[in-house]
Amino acid sequence: MTVQVCSQCGFSLDDALNEASGLAALAWVRTNDHGRTTTQCTLCTRANIRAIEAHLDQEAWSTAR
Ligand SMILES: [Zn+2]
Repeated sequence: MTVQVCSQCGFSLDDALNEASGLAALAWVRTNDHGRTTTQCTLCTRANIRAIEAHLDQEAWSTAR
């Protein structure tokens, strides 16, 4: 049994509850930010996708040179 909790909105999902929950859990995004893992549900991922991409881009150029 794995209960995932969205670090953005606090929504929790038990991926062992039923097949639909298991499939939904696959769409959740886990991000490792300097050793701290955050999990976001699909709704928050959609809302924050630009922020996530911007953050990754910033890290790419700040560590490359
Ligand atoms: Zn959420």
